[in-house]
Amino acid sequence: MSGLMECLIGCLIGWTVTGMNYAKLNGYDIANGPGVRVSLFVSGCRHHCKGCFNPETWDFDYGRVFTFDTYQRLDDLLSFEHISGLSILGGEPLEPENNKTLTVVCKSIKEVYPEKTIWLYTGFTYEHVRDLPIMRYVDVLVDGPFIESLKDISLQFRGSSNQRIIDVKASLERGEVVLWSDDPVFERRKW
Ligand code: SF4
Repeated sequence: MSGLMECLIGCLIGWTVTGMNYAKLNGYDIANGPGVRVSLFVSGCRHHCKGCFNPETWDFDYGRVFTFDTYQRLDDLLSFEHISGLSILGGEPLEPENNKTLTVVCKSIKEVYPEKTIWLYTGFTYEHVRDLPIMRYVDVLVDGPFIESLKDISLQFRGSSNQRIIDVKASLERGEVVLWSDDPVFERRKW
């Protein structure tokens, strides 16, 4: 049994995980955060942004139930040395139906893979979600709804210019929003 599975089972003893569905678990994603990442698209979103790139995931019953087998698959994918971390998208990961399960998952991942980063995409603003327990385990938050009139395909790792890429740990420490910055080698002029 892998470290992640042991850790997850430990976390889940005495703790009931609410049902969460997911649309996709990707083992090779280079579009949603730096490096090669595992990405998890969860189901369910009440924001209903106009022009949403993934409207099928608004339905909380879309896709498959996230089970222990899914944990195992996630562990297998994250264990590869070339994987930089996990990106969680949707749907809306911070809807109450998803947030509870993802808090356990993120806590476990951070304990087993402390060197791998967790990016989380949400339609809520940082100010709205910064006090959630899951934020202790999230390294970078891409926040805010997708606004079609602000769509810009040249933006890195986000769809519309209102969305911010936030360094969560630095922001919590300083008590103000600190934007994440990419390695200068990869940084683009639009930042
Ligand atoms: S928050 Fe994301 S998934 Fe939800 S409607 Fe907006 S763009 Fe679509």
